[in-house]
Amino acid sequence: MTTEQQSLLDEKARAAATSDAAARVAALRKEIEHHTYQYYALDDPQISDGAFDSLMRELRELEALHPELVDSASPTQRVGGYVGEQFVPVDHASRMYSLDNAMDLDELAAWAERVEKALGELPPLCCELKIDGSSIALTYDQGVLVRAATRGNGTTGEDVTANMRTVRDVPLALREQARGAVRRPGTPLELRGEVYMPKRSFEALNRAAVDNGKAPFANPRNAAAGSLRQKDPKVTAGRDLATFIYATADDAALTVEGQWDLLQWLREAGFHVNPDVALCTSLDEVFGFCRASMDRREELPYEIDGVVVKVDSFALQERMGFTARAPRWAIAFKFPPEEKTTILRDITVQVGRTGALTPVAEMEPVTVAGSTVARATLHNVDEVHRKDVRVGDTVVVRKAGDVIPEVVGPVLALRPDDALVWEMPHECPSCGSPVVREEGEAAYRCISIDCPAQSLERLLHWTSRGALDIEGMGHEIVGWLNEQGRLVDVADFYTLTEDELAAVVTHRVNGEGEYLPLGYVFAKKLMAAIDGSRQQPFARVLFGLGIRHVGKTVAETLAQAFPDIDRLISATEEELSAVDGIGPKIACSIVAFFATKDNLEVVERLRGAGVRLVADDDAEALPQNLTGITFVLTGALSSMTRDEAGARLKALGAKVSGSVSKKTGYVVAGEDAGSKYDKAVALGVPVLDEPQLEALLAAEGDLAVLEGAGAGR
Ligand code: AMP
Repeated sequence: MTTEQQSLLDEKARAAATSDAAARVAALRKEIEHHTYQYYALDDPQISDGAFDSLMRELRELEALHPELVDSASPTQRVGGYVGEQFVPVDHASRMYSLDNAMDLDELAAWAERVEKALGELPPLCCELKIDGSSIALTYDQGVLVRAATRGNGTTGEDVTANMRTVRDVPLALREQARGAVRRPGTPLELRGEVYMPKRSFEALNRAAVDNGKAPFANPRNAAAGSLRQKDPKVTAGRDLATFIYATADDAALTVEGQWDLLQWLREAGFHVNPDVALCTSLDEVFGFCRASMDRREELPYEIDGVVVKVDSFALQERMGFTARAPRWAIAFKFPPEEKTTILRDITVQVGRTGALTPVAEMEPVTVAGSTVARATLHNVDEVHRKDVRVGDTVVVRKAGDVIPEVVGPVLALRPDDALVWEMPHECPSCGSPVVREEGEAAYRCISIDCPAQSLERLLHWTSRGALDIEGMGHEIVGWLNEQGRLVDVADFYTLTEDELAAVVTHRVNGEGEYLPLGYVFAKKLMAAIDGSRQQPFARVLFGLGIRHVGKTVAETLAQAFPDIDRLISATEEELSAVDGIGPKIACSIVAFFATKDNLEVVERLRGAGVRLVADDDAEALPQNLTGITFVLTGALSSMTRDEAGARLKALGAKVSGSVSKKTGYVVAGEDAGSKYDKAVALGVPVLDEPQLEALLAAEGDLAVLEGAGAGR
C-alpha cells in the first residue's frame, strides 16, 4: 500500500470514529437532558443518581477526546468562564416591574374590585406562590441559553450568564417539543422567574460561614442574590441555587394566551415551574389559596413571602396595563410576619462600644421565617417595661421585615407566679463599674474607659464591613487576642504577626477534644486582609475609630470638611458645628475624643502603620509608585518600627522581603544593620538610610526624591 493510500484509510477511519462519536454524544446529551428534565422540572427521576453520573462521565470523556463536538448547550458546559471585575450591564427586552402589595385580605379584595370595575367582571385569576428570591431574566436565542441577567433597576440589569449556567435546573436549551409554540423562532426569547436558595442549603451555607469567621447571610434571599453576584462561577456552582420560572418578557412571543397556559408551556420547555398554582374564578377561591399557602409556608423547602395573584388572560392584562411601578393586573398578597411562641429564659445585658447597656432576650431556640431565633434585642429598659416581658414568660417572637428577630410581648395567661419585673443592673456586667443614665437618654451606660466589653466591641467595630472591613477578623479571633492582651486598641491590629495569628486558639476541636489553632492558611489570609485595610478611605477610618455620635454619614461629612486628621484634631467645637450636618453634640464628642491622650496615641500609631488619615478625592487611593520593587529592611529605625515601615512601603505597592538577593530593589538600613547590609553592598544593591526612607514615604514612593542622594536604580 502506498503512503497516500494509507493516509486516505487513516482519514476514513478517523471520520468514521468521529461520526460514531458525534452520534453517541448526541444520544447521550438527549438522554441526559431527558433525565435532567424528569429530575428538575417534573420532580420525577427515572434513573438513580449513580446511573445519571455515569452517563455524564461518558459524555465528558467523549467530549474530551473530540473537542470539536463540544458546544455551549452541552450539559458538561455549565461551569466555565470568569465574570471579571465588573458585571456588564444588560438592557431588558421589556421593563421588569415590581408588584403592588396587599398587606391583608381586605386590601386583596379592594384590588379585585378594581379589576372587576376595569373589566366589567372578575376574570379567572392565576394564583402563584411568591418566591422569596432574586428576579432573573433568561434569554434564549435559537432555543439556546445565551444570557442571564438580574433585574437591576428594572430597565437595566447585570449580566450573570456564567453564574446562572451553573444552576442545574436552568435548561441550557429549550426542549424540542416546546419550540413549536415560539412565534418568531429567529428572535431571542426572554423568560423570567426567581432564583432562590432552598432553606436547608441556606442553613448549611451560614453554618459554614460562621465556622470560617465570616458574617452569615441575613436570609435566603440575600444568600441567593449574593451567590449570583460571584466573580467566580465555581463559587456559584457550589451554592445550590434553584429557580422557579413564571413569565415571559413579551406575551406575544408565544402562542399561549394566558398565565396558566404559559406555566404549562414553561414546564414543557424544560423549566422548573412551581407546582403550587391555582386558576380561580372567585375571590373566595383566591382567599382559600392564600390561607392554604400560609399554612403550608413552613413545610415548604424554600422561602415564600406571599401569594401573587394575576389576571390570567394576556389580552385582559393588556387592557389593564401598568402604573409607573407595577402591573395593574397583578397583586402580591404579603403574608403577615410569621410569629412563634417560646420561653424567655433570661434577660442579659450587652455592653456596646460606647458603653451603652442593652438588654437582650435569651430564648429557647425557635425557627421563625426560615432561621433559628434564640436572642433578640430589647433595646432599653423602658422597652422591657413597656412590653412587660419577664424572665420565665412565654413570649411571642417574630422577624421584623422578615429579618430582625423581635419580641412582640408575653402570653400573660402562661406567666409563672414567680416571674419578676426586670431591672437594669447597677453595675456594668463586664467591668463592675457603676452605670449611669444621662439626662434625656434611654440608655444606661458604663462610663469606665477600661471596660473590657467596650474595648472588644471597639475592636470588632474597627474590623466591621462599614469600617475597615477586615474580612475573617470575627468575634472569636479578636476576642481571643483581646483576652491575651495582644489586641487592646485598634492600632494593635497592625502589629500582629502571621505566627501570632496562626496560634490563635479557636473553638474547633480535634478527635481528642483538643482545641485547634487557627493555622497558617487562615493566618495568611488575615494578614492580607489587615494589610488591605490600610488602603481603606479616610472616612471609613474616622467611622472605625468609634467616636460617639460619629456614624458612617457623619464620618463622610467630616472627611470632606477636614480632609486631614491633623486638621480635624485641631478643629474647635465652633469650627466643627459650622459644618452642615454636624450639630453641637457631635462637635463636643469629637473634641472630647481628640482631647484624650490615649486616643491621640492610637492615631499616631495608626499613622505609623500606614493607615490613611488623609482624604483623597481619587477614591482615596495611594499612588502605587513602588509596584514591582522589593525592599528589605534591616537594623533599627528611630521614627517607626520596621513593621510600620514595611506596611507603609506596601501601601505604595512595594513588596517587602526578609532576605537580600540580586532582585532586591533597595535595602533600608537602620542602626546596627547586620549581614543584610553587607550582602547588599556585596551584590551592589542600593542602600537607603532612615532620612532617605522618610523622604521616599513622604513623596508617596516617588523615586525621584532619591536622585542625587547617592542611591537609585
Ligand atoms: P417586590 O420585590 O416585593 O416588589 O415583589 C416583586 C417581585 O416578586 C418580582 O420582581 C419577582 O421577583 C418576585 N416574585 C416571586 N414570585 C413571583 C411570582 N410567582 N410571580 C411574579 N413575581 C414573583
